[in-house]
Amino acid sequence: MARLYEPDAYDTARWPESYWRASTELPLPTVPLEGDAEAEVAIIGAGYAGLNAALELAERFGIRATVLEAGQPGWGASGRNGGFCCHGGARLTSGQIASRHGDAGAQEWADFEYEAIERVRDNLTRYTIDADAGPEGELYMAHSARSFARMQAAPLEPGCELLDRAALAERGMQGAGLYGAILSPHGFPLHPLKYALGLARAAQAAGVTVHGDSAVTGLAREGAAWRLQTARGSLRAKRVLVATNGYSDEALPHWLHGRIFPLLSAILVTRPLSEGERAAQGWTSQIMAYDSRRVLHYYRLLPDGRFLFGGRGGISARLDALAAFHTTLRGEFDAMFPAFAAAGTEHYWAGLVCMTGSWHPFCAEVPEQPGLFAALGWHGNGVAAASEGGRRIAHALAGGANPAPALVQAPLNRFPLPALRRPLKGVAVGLAKLADRLA
Ligand SMILES: Cc1cc2nc3c(=O)[nH]c(=O)nc-3n(C[C@H](O)[C@H](O)[C@H](O)COP(=O)(O)OP(=O)(O)OC[C@H]3O[C@@H](n4cnc5c(N)ncnc54)[C@H](O)[C@@H]3O)c2cc1C
Repeated sequence: MARLYEPDAYDTARWPESYWRASTELPLPTVPLEGDAEAEVAIIGAGYAGLNAALELAERFGIRATVLEAGQPGWGASGRNGGFCCHGGARLTSGQIASRHGDAGAQEWADFEYEAIERVRDNLTRYTIDADAGPEGELYMAHSARSFARMQAAPLEPGCELLDRAALAERGMQGAGLYGAILSPHGFPLHPLKYALGLARAAQAAGVTVHGDSAVTGLAREGAAWRLQTARGSLRAKRVLVATNGYSDEALPHWLHGRIFPLLSAILVTRPLSEGERAAQGWTSQIMAYDSRRVLHYYRLLPDGRFLFGGRGGISARLDALAAFHTTLRGEFDAMFPAFAAAGTEHYWAGLVCMTGSWHPFCAEVPEQPGLFAALGWHGNGVAAASEGGRRIAHALAGGANPAPALVQAPLNRFPLPALRRPLKGVAVGLAKLADRLA
């Protein structure tokens, strides 16, 4: 095992008591892989990427893949995120993408981001998944006067609106330290676990075999195929997709070592807020919002009146350290939404997102490993991007050309000094928070 965090982060026997779990009826668990089996395509990981790849393979190519999941479908980030179905997936700006892949490459990535949102919308309709989808649009909040001045100075993308403090107040989006925002018309919030479980059900209905409690512990070439080992069985497959994102074992395959950097993201959800509390704060909108900090916050009012507030910056995945991080996150929430201070936290949990050494996702065949593919590295924005990435990579898994954007087919670099990723994380978070105060 080669993983960056403490074992608590990967303990599939424990599914965090998130608000999503408390508000979802879990299906019967899928059974583990037992004995030796064969499949044309094996998929490691039953999150949005793996399940969408399996669905595309079944529906478009008639290939019924076998999915091996260490926990149960949706156990990873796909069942515990903030539910923002929005643009994103790469950490690079459009200018940086254009300088590497030309204007056409930047446009191709921008188109992918839009299509990814539409993919999720289509999945919800096609598989009749009721995932409590909320209103269209997303707010990018300025956390300082300087940040808002930069928003005002930059050209506005088509369809976007610039909102100053007064305009935010008019629309029911008031918080302390919010200086203005860009309102994009794209994206919508959803219940992430209902979406993940709906995909798993649809995949099973399409003939996909999904094995839970089946962590892959070995992956080796066997002639022209691959052999995947689990505790109770093994699977031989012609082609393999690694869709393990922030929960990856960096030895599966060894190529991954040092090329990814999982980061902790944590979420708290309050008790339902009364209408009076919402009015007192001036936050009555269900539009989803995130801010311009490097160590960002994301937040939204849930359909049942609770407030969801998430943030990054946690250093350790040990359960006691995560519990301590709640105090930090809650402090930041209370400072921004003082009228909600009396509404205690009813649910709090954390999970792993995945950065890469190239600051973009990877969705292609692993170099010099014919038949081995990976789709991962969504940089904390995978609800839409991992869904679409999974769909695209299925075409390559079926033996065709890879229709993923050039950006995500580019080689994945290693982080410099990968062994220092964890030891330096505390320093990096401290510096980023300082930069946020000055920005
Ligand atoms: C707290 C939090 C908030 C977030 N908020 C948002 C948001 O609001 N909007 C957004 O777009 N994105 C958000 N994200 C990111 C988003 O959830 C992910 O990008 C997305 O879910 C990735 O999907 P995936 O299928 O690639 O990976 P995952 O859903 O993480 O699935 C990977 C799966 O692989 C399995 N696995 C790992 N190793 C093995 C193995 N050896 N054998 C078998 N199985 C294995 C894991 O158990 C896991 O279930 C958030 C993430 C977190 C943690």
